Amino acid sequence: MSMYNAFSGTIMRQYFSPLEFSHRIFDCYDMYKESTIDRKNFKHSSIEPLISELKRNRKFSVKKLGESVERRSIYLVSLGKGSRDVLLWSQMHGDESTATMALFDIFNFFSKDDDFSDVKEIILKNLRLNFLPMLNPDGAEKFQRRNALGIDINRDASRLQCPESRILKEIRDKLSPEFGFNLHDQSPRYSVGNSFKIASISFLAPRLNYGNEVPPVREKAMKLIVDLKNALSEFIPGHISKYSDDFEPRAFGDNIQSWGTSTILIESGGWQNDHQKQFLRKLNFTLLLTSLLSIAEESYTKNKVKDYYCIPENKENIFDLLIRNVILKQRDKFSKVDIGINRYEILTEDQGIVFRGIIEDMGDLSGYYGSEEYCFDSLEALCGKEYTEVIESYSDLKDLNFEDLLNEGITTINVKKDLPKDGFSKYPILIKSSEISAKIDNIAVKSPAFFLLRKGKEINFAVINGFLYNLKTSTNNVYNSCIVQ
Ligand SMILES: [Zn+2]
Repeated sequence: MSMYNAFSGTIMRQYFSPLEFSHRIFDCYDMYKESTIDRKNFKHSSIEPLISELKRNRKFSVKKLGESVERRSIYLVSLGKGSRDVLLWSQMHGDESTATMALFDIFNFFSKDDDFSDVKEIILKNLRLNFLPMLNPDGAEKFQRRNALGIDINRDASRLQCPESRILKEIRDKLSPEFGFNLHDQSPRYSVGNSFKIASISFLAPRLNYGNEVPPVREKAMKLIVDLKNALSEFIPGHISKYSDDFEPRAFGDNIQSWGTSTILIESGGWQNDHQKQFLRKLNFTLLLTSLLSIAEESYTKNKVKDYYCIPENKENIFDLLIRNVILKQRDKFSKVDIGINRYEILTEDQGIVFRGIIEDMGDLSGYYGSEEYCFDSLEALCGKEYTEVIESYSDLKDLNFEDLLNEGITTINVKKDLPKDGFSKYPILIKSSEISAKIDNIAVKSPAFFLLRKGKEINFAVINGFLYNLKTSTNNVYNSCIVQ
């Protein structure tokens, strides 16, 4: 929809600023969300039918650029008639898929006829958009960072030993794009500076060399990042940071900047209870479309580089779960400790992504924060007991009342046979093969996170595999537990 301005006689678009535009697309995101991808560990076979659909759509041009080590196709999806090229590549690291999901949402945005036709026209008249979704399909297959040769593609920009690296270098050189978007995921345990807020989205305009010069190519990237920071601040205030600014001569972002393309690194981090990164995907959708409008209209040029420098840097200050001020009895002495727990993701054949909770640190953890954080003054932390009865088969566990067992202080059950091979279970208790006699849980750094929190004789909480079970309110937040065999 456009409005005619009777005073100036020009066509005005409905959306007056990138900021307002970002609000509108954020609000109607669900219209564009690609519903066939709803978990972050999707594979190349999930994007093949979507790519085939784009091939049939006249708005898009789809080219196969080459193949990965294991011969999966790598594509370039292009649209727009502008003279200025923009190149966006995602999932160079196979387990960093947030932006790939958003790119397919963006393809849906450009496919649909809707109220945004004027904005699309501005973008597509000025720019030629080139998307390279999933640069590392072999890594995505196993949901791992490296490619099938065990190489980190983002350390291969100079040697170019991997086919995936050569594909990216060749298309960069062929297009010589004005802007490049290097789309990654970072640890969900970064905080924004020394604050308690998770770094949900981090940006960087990488250096060109070990120096810190800001030639026009880098300055443009910095100014665009200011637009993106402002837009995102409307949705996740305080959760935006800058990625480490160290020069890495083997990385693509740094090299592409030095090859003359204004490069923006976007790292999707963490958000509470967003294990599948679906909220961060929505933010990627919003900020990438906002970028394209800002580049098309060159509205970013009005920004000041000093505002880029004001964005706080990432700090590694966050645990997935932080429990403060509990009392721990060791060697007959009581001490007050904080317990920091992280939950590490593991991809399993049958259950998809599951977690292993580990006690990461213990002691005085002031200065650190928890993605989930509790202060349990005067509760005592203690190890649970083993269930005295040995259960015959794993399938018999379904008859047990786990809340009753936890209330009795039991955190481990021994089972004789038929334990699932992948080593993970949905039951909120530690399961152990009866052949193993050693006790597994121990409240110590690097131990599995299984323990109880009690006041007097009454158990208030159980920590099971790094997840909290609130026994006072019967709230079971245990996503999964572990099996030791
Ligand atoms: Zn990465």
